[in-house]
Amino acid sequence: MRIDLHAHSTASDGTDAPADLIRAASAAGLDVVALTDHDTVSGWAEALAAAETIGITMVPGVEISCRWQGVSLHLLAFFFDPADAPLLAEMERTRNGRAGRAETMVAQLAADYPISWAQVQRHATGDTVGRPHIADALVESGVVATRDEAFDRLLHSRSAYYVPHAAPEPVAAVGLVRAAGGVAVFAHPGARGRGEVVPDSLIVEMAAAGMAGLEVDHRDHDAPTRARLRDLASRLGLLVTGSSDYHGTGKVNRLGENTTSPEAYAAILAAATSGVAPGGGS
Ligand code: AMP
Ligand code: ZN
Ligand code: FE
Ligand code: FE
Repeated sequence: MRIDLHAHSTASDGTDAPADLIRAASAAGLDVVALTDHDTVSGWAEALAAAETIGITMVPGVEISCRWQGVSLHLLAFFFDPADAPLLAEMERTRNGRAGRAETMVAQLAADYPISWAQVQRHATGDTVGRPHIADALVESGVVATRDEAFDRLLHSRSAYYVPHAAPEPVAAVGLVRAAGGVAVFAHPGARGRGEVVPDSLIVEMAAAGMAGLEVDHRDHDAPTRARLRDLASRLGLLVTGSSDYHGTGKVNRLGENTTSPEAYAAILAAATSGVAPGGGS
């Protein structure tokens, strides 16, 4: 059984529509794929319908933006109640903050480059706007050739054009996910290329708040980082996941390039208390 628990669609900053992502996952030989758009569940219905037609299992999820002492981090959540009011309200707050932040970044970039907010909005067709959509506008204007080049030169977290956005504290976010009956897994906790990473002491606190696992097998982790995180997970009784963090043509990440064991997936299913089940399947 091949299981990939982290992928994005056009509901956030992926380039495949939710149904196309499900088709691509099936074509890549996956049996289970999670849709984990940034701070929105708006892609679930379309993905679920496609999974039922195609006969692949779709795990409903989200990647929640969090912020801790100025450090940005991401929390994956699976199988939570998509109608849970406190969790929905928190994600809506984050999406609104992201929109204001993107507009500010674009205003700063527009002083030096041909880019406009209307142009970025045309690229952000889903619920959640992110730096990748700013990158798309910069590609369109011929400033850079690819999303990657846009991040390397202008959009990285130490860039003069970078602006942060408000997001929940990670321990609070874990609590919200648990209260909504979901299962929380720390996404790429050791991805130093994206900026500063949080200390192990915070991971200990998140585990105490009910976090279930760490995403260890991810392309942004080198072998020593994976070994260290695997050891930390084992000491804290956390499960280990692996995933592609696929974004369609927006990133080199390929579906199924890292996978989650059937045992870890079964443990995630068993930890969910919302009654929300995987969809589709054969
Ligand atoms: P944001 O959520 O707006 O802060 O933007 C960060 C998102 O951009 C990440 O979640 C990735 O999806 C994406 N990203 C980060 N680095 C790159 C890159 N080098 N090329 C393309 N997308 C990237
Ligand atoms: Zn993304
Ligand atoms: Fe992420
Ligand atoms: Fe992601």
